[in-house]
Amino acid sequence: MDQYDVIIIGGGPAGLACGLYLARARMKTLLIEEVGLGGQAVLTDEIENYPGFPSGIKGNELTEKLKEQAEKFGLVIDYGKVKEIKKNLKSWEAATNQKKREALSVIIATGAKPKKLDIPGEDEFRGKGVSYCATCDGAFFRDKDIVVVGGGDTAVEEALFLTRFGKKVILIHRRNRLRAAKVLQERAQANDKIEFVWDSIPLQILGNQQVEAVKIKNVKTGKESEISCQGIFVFVGLIPNTDFLGGLVELDERGYVITDDEMKTSREGVFACGDCRKKLLRQVVTACGDGAVAAFSSQKYAEELKGTAY
Ligand code: NAP
Repeated sequence: MDQYDVIIIGGGPAGLACGLYLARARMKTLLIEEVGLGGQAVLTDEIENYPGFPSGIKGNELTEKLKEQAEKFGLVIDYGKVKEIKKNLKSWEAATNQKKREALSVIIATGAKPKKLDIPGEDEFRGKGVSYCATCDGAFFRDKDIVVVGGGDTAVEEALFLTRFGKKVILIHRRNRLRAAKVLQERAQANDKIEFVWDSIPLQILGNQQVEAVKIKNVKTGKESEISCQGIFVFVGLIPNTDFLGGLVELDERGYVITDDEMKTSREGVFACGDCRKKLLRQVVTACGDGAVAAFSSQKYAEELKGTAY
């Protein structure tokens, strides 16, 4: 079995920043990513609050730079879905379908995925008008009517992005106040293509072969109505990618990994960083910060086991 000092699971900004720090510390480190690097960030068209980039940076460009920088110092990246992490005497084993690897320490950086609405029509019309990624699918809705559901940073940011394509963008939010950052709210309010439908939740997505409308309910009046649209983009928050841990470490009631401020989980030698962790603010900059701390903590842990701590 291949042996490492540290295995990082997940190649979003947290995992890549963690890999950079560990590689620079000359720890033998492997990062295992399931599908593609970048996590939620790579699905973002423009990231304008990552410090040091006053004109903003594309999500895919930032991901590429993070990867290049970590690999420059020797981070090894491989692909596969980690199914299980288990303890073997002093080491931790991470198993994918293809391979088993061992390391003195493991870092969980598996991020989070978009939450679904769980309403009729959502699964049926996925890829036929229902989407969770504006950068991936926005261009399919040129001159169409687009509905966006949600009131957080993602919904408002992506609604703004979708105005590049849609004839109009109708943002449905369950309250009458947005959760998104004020600068995004101001921009959306000033955009003629964006209409707001307040105090409303989607009940059902309607159509034949493709989405044709969404049925909504006003939560204050109880009145139901239909909005005609060809695309519906769902941005109602995230759920952490922690199911595969199967009780390995302590999670909170929503499934986020509980860590201390050194990114230590409830199991010795297992650390967590980024969006999969219980924390106040989920941003690229905080993911990278977490990654650096997790790297340092796991380095100390592994060096103590090897007897090479200073
Ligand atoms: P979020 O902040 O959790 O917001 C989710 C939104 O969806 C909220 O407005 C919520 O309404 C609404 N919602 C939740 N469940 C719903 C349901 N079942 N039906 C209808 N509406 C529902 O999620 P997010 O916007 O995806 O952001 C996730 C994290 O990433 C946040 O920490 C965010 O700050 C961060 N992020 C940052 C940026 C940036 O800085 N540029 C960009 C994207 C994401 P309520 O408001 O009523 O709860």
